[in-house]
Amino acid sequence: MKTETLAVVGGTKKDETKATNPAIYMSTAYEYDSAQHAADLFDLKTTGYIYSRLHNPTTTVLEQRIAALEDSPACIATSSGHFAQFMTICAMAKAGDEIVSSSSIYGGTFNMFSKSLKKLGITVKFANINKPEEFDALINDKTKAVFVEVVSNPSCDIPDFEAISAVCKKHKVPFIVDNTYLTPYLFKPKYFGADIIWHSTTKFLDGHSNAMGGAVVDCGTYDWTSGRFPDFTTESPSYKGVVYARDFKACPLYAKLLTETMRDLGGCPSPFNSYLIAQGIQTLHVRMDRHIENTFKVVEFLKKHPKIEWVNYPSDKDNKNYKLAQKYYPKGAGAVFTFGVKGGFDAGKKLIESVKLCVHTANLGDVRTLVTHPASTTHRQLTSEQRAQYGVPDSLVRISVGLEHADDIIADLEQALK
Ligand code: PLP
Repeated sequence: MKTETLAVVGGTKKDETKATNPAIYMSTAYEYDSAQHAADLFDLKTTGYIYSRLHNPTTTVLEQRIAALEDSPACIATSSGHFAQFMTICAMAKAGDEIVSSSSIYGGTFNMFSKSLKKLGITVKFANINKPEEFDALINDKTKAVFVEVVSNPSCDIPDFEAISAVCKKHKVPFIVDNTYLTPYLFKPKYFGADIIWHSTTKFLDGHSNAMGGAVVDCGTYDWTSGRFPDFTTESPSYKGVVYARDFKACPLYAKLLTETMRDLGGCPSPFNSYLIAQGIQTLHVRMDRHIENTFKVVEFLKKHPKIEWVNYPSDKDNKNYKLAQKYYPKGAGAVFTFGVKGGFDAGKKLIESVKLCVHTANLGDVRTLVTHPASTTHRQLTSEQRAQYGVPDSLVRISVGLEHADDIIADLEQALK
């Protein structure tokens, strides 16, 4: 089925009530049929629900919907996008191991990689997203994954998937792609070499800013017997006789995440949030089309405005990344982009203080249009020079274009610029 249809029906199973919407199973526990049934569940010899820290029937609907949209065998939903990232790294790496990541990534992920993972003894090395050869040079025997985001934050650069996935294949390293900005409606990373996909479902998948959540998709493409992952090819210390790469061939990472990592670290979503996110996804394709349509109109308005210095939207034909955007994201490079206001720090701050319809917040992927001025908020601890060095000049404003009428978004920006 097509993406639009999978967004509506993916993961749905009718129960005896024939309700068209999935039930919200606010249950932490599940009854076992017999001592043998319980033993088989705990030995992973049979499938079934054990305890909601591991899985829950409402969450299963969400997981199967996202897996269907990413054309992949399995997905595990989490309490937040950050937990999806953290649990994947915990399942794949241990002290002494390394990750090679694009340096242009969401600030929260950068912090996790450079500070929290460091405390666990996992080193993340950073490469320039525009230089696949840097990824190549940083990979060694200890490397467990290569990571990029689909649209880098805040530089709006786009990875050359062909080149970076070729580097991963050459070294037999799994390729992780964060698809939060685009969603599987605009881009399916699996078709461009990704082995693992991350989502902060908090953003466009949910779409309404009402439920935190994340997801890890196991594309089922990586060969875990490559020699880099002895934990996947030898008996699990948690389950007698279980070897993930041998016993769960279609999706070994998913099996390990579910049965070991989620069990040990928690980080499961509330069934109510799973319901909200699964429902949000049902309108994903319609929302994303309108997000993009509005984005192009706002980009055109800003490009012509005398108080705007520059506009950085990769799908704009004058953008330095236009060719890559057309190649990988022909429908449009999402609805989040940046622009510079003439007058630097003060002008950026003043613009943010002057919007009335647009909402001043650091979030993205909402039905509402959201604006943020990093220099006076998230990056205020840095000096002006440091901000410029990190690609966040004082004039930079980030916008996540919402679903209001484009005329009203533009009118609000117009009055704020005035
Ligand atoms: N990945 C990207 C690209 C993000 O923008 C964010 C949050 O803004 C995250 C991951 C983290 O997700 P969450 O806020 O759901 O933990």
